[in-house]
Amino acid sequence: MNSTTLTAPEQFQFQVPHWLQECLLAEEKGNNEDNHLVCSAFQFAYQLHEGQYRKSGEPYIGHPVAVAGLLRDLGGDSAMIAAGFLHDVVEDTETTIEEIEERFGAEVRQLVEGVTKLSKFNFSSKTERQAENFRRMFLAMAKDIRVIVVKLADRLHNMRTLQPLRPEKQKRIALETREIFAPLANRLGIGCFKWELEDLSFKYLEPEAYRKIQGLVAEKRVDREARLEKVIELLRERLRKIGINVFEVKGRPKHLYGIYHKMYRLQKEFTEIYDLAGVRIIVNTNEECYRTLAVAHDAFKPIPGRFKDYIGLPKPNRYQSLHTTVVGLHGRPLEIQIRTLEMHQVAEYGIAAHWKYKETGGSNFTKSTSEDEKFTWLRQLLEWQKELKDSQEYIDSLKDNLFEDDVYVFTPKGDVIALAQGATAVDFAYRIHTEVGNHMKGARINGRWSVLDTPLKNGDIVEIVTSKNSHPSLDWLNFAVTPSARNRIRQWYKRSHRDENVARAQKLLEKELGKSSLEALLKSDPMQTVAGRCNYQNVEDLLAALGYGEITLNQVVNKLREEIKAQQPPEEETEFQPELPPQTQAKDIKSDRGDRSPIIGIEGMVYYVAGCCNPVPGEPIIGIVTRSAKGISIHRQGCPNVEGVPGERLIPVSWNRSNANGRPQTYPVDIQIEAIDRVGVLRDILARLSDENINVRNAGVKTSFGKPALIFLSVDVTDRQQLECSIKKIRNMCDILNIRRITEADNL
Ligand code: MN
Repeated sequence: MNSTTLTAPEQFQFQVPHWLQECLLAEEKGNNEDNHLVCSAFQFAYQLHEGQYRKSGEPYIGHPVAVAGLLRDLGGDSAMIAAGFLHDVVEDTETTIEEIEERFGAEVRQLVEGVTKLSKFNFSSKTERQAENFRRMFLAMAKDIRVIVVKLADRLHNMRTLQPLRPEKQKRIALETREIFAPLANRLGIGCFKWELEDLSFKYLEPEAYRKIQGLVAEKRVDREARLEKVIELLRERLRKIGINVFEVKGRPKHLYGIYHKMYRLQKEFTEIYDLAGVRIIVNTNEECYRTLAVAHDAFKPIPGRFKDYIGLPKPNRYQSLHTTVVGLHGRPLEIQIRTLEMHQVAEYGIAAHWKYKETGGSNFTKSTSEDEKFTWLRQLLEWQKELKDSQEYIDSLKDNLFEDDVYVFTPKGDVIALAQGATAVDFAYRIHTEVGNHMKGARINGRWSVLDTPLKNGDIVEIVTSKNSHPSLDWLNFAVTPSARNRIRQWYKRSHRDENVARAQKLLEKELGKSSLEALLKSDPMQTVAGRCNYQNVEDLLAALGYGEITLNQVVNKLREEIKAQQPPEEETEFQPELPPQTQAKDIKSDRGDRSPIIGIEGMVYYVAGCCNPVPGEPIIGIVTRSAKGISIHRQGCPNVEGVPGERLIPVSWNRSNANGRPQTYPVDIQIEAIDRVGVLRDILARLSDENINVRNAGVKTSFGKPALIFLSVDVTDRQQLECSIKKIRNMCDILNIRRITEADNL
């Protein structure tokens, strides 16, 4: 520690709180690392804020010291307390965040940086929805929950010292506190912060009502306290008799805003909801809670419908207790809360209870040494989720409030806009107004011109620059993510670019169907039918829709193909007749080439199967060169007609049907398929081939964005009939745009 800095409490112009005095004294003696961090953060803040004063005239340092104290009371670790001291130095002094890191490490830097960032926003919300957006953004932005807790402590102290400010400013800050900060404290379960924030907001927002209720509560106090004393005595005695060890039975002050809220909500007079008397009983175990409840219901008459078991079903913020209302002495309703000590700590400190009570050692601070303890708020919440998996309400609220993949950005005026993750300035513009989107010229994000497809980040300030002559571009559909923006871009195109859209659609179809046939196709009956099936008046409307992307090329082409198929006579089967009809009498048969020929030895030659002996695959055969145009005649070996034929006219041939294993001889075929690119399309094709007993040797898929998938298959088939049958089956799948063999010799 620097010896020139102030070390004795007497030297300060403000009241150094007792705990801080102790820290400073301990620092002189020992070398506790945590204590050192706290003390040096205090001294640094003290020097930087020197000469600064609050509205009240007090030295400014009193504020950070009070914030640090609140965090310490909450059980915050040394980094949090240090951040409490330093939370205003980056904003209010010349210090940079880098200097904070240099002096106090990365952890303190992150906390101070987080708080500073949140302080920059002006949370003057206009509607409840806006307020909810602010709260969500708060949670989304603070990666470390401790940032929010520091911010809440800052706000609590500001609310405690709001008096010297001008009334308008008081009201603005109080409203923000009621709408943003009190609900946040509640969400984190920090009851003690929530109640005080609510009462202080109440005081400044509705001063008359506040004073009235304050007066009413004070007026009855003596009466009430006397009655409560008796009730407490009675309960204590009865619990002692059955052996329940009571930590505390206490009259419970109810906070003023709660009373007011209840009056307002139930539209009742103060006297009507005069269940101000509340008793809290703190016992050891869950089981004792229920036994205590039984005792209370035995001693006093319970009011039906007022019992709530928040132990069995905890509140979303983890609050647990048994609540009941009984008819107390003098016929007055009496609210009783029963809970364990642990539940009480959670009720008061919420998320912070974990820090405050996990250590019982004598140290002043809990220390975040192990990685485990440096949890992020998210991990902490996840732990709760695990613990409370019974509570659907809790899980739902987490999903609802914390895990939504939303991104929160600002308008230049400071309104928060929630957009889907990945949203861009285009989505933002259309969210503001359709016309803003339709005339968007460019966007400034955080003051800088940005490319339109830049995904927005939490906290970005987005400014849309419009011009009368600017219009949407179809290209925006490539990065606009919100459905409303996408629809409006399409709508705009639909309205303003009909001719262009029709032309674009014609080009698309030309590419797919060929230029020569397109003109006729567009006038054809199938095309008319397709337009009708797609709910368009005529073909031109259909083309316009295709042009601006309301329907896809695939949809049109598939429907068109179906219609053409339906309106034409069935395909001729002859082309794919088996190659070797055994009964054919001297019929000419075109030969196949290469090893795909059914008969080996006469590749490329014209042949026919002789009617005299009708050889079938498997039988030994021989070819005879004839003088006719029919080419070579194929005979069974031993056929009488072969005898006497001169040797030079005989050709040795054999069937290409079976291999040595007796399995059908197969021939490799390459197929190319164009298909709509969807998950599982290849699997479905392969399944159909497998049904046909066709072996697939090789399969490959080529996809490129916005285009049909190209599938390449190498299959083994026994004959063309089998191949054609399979191809038909595949072609009939709804996803298939085109299928063909990739051999020029084939005319499939
Ligand atoms: Mn502050």
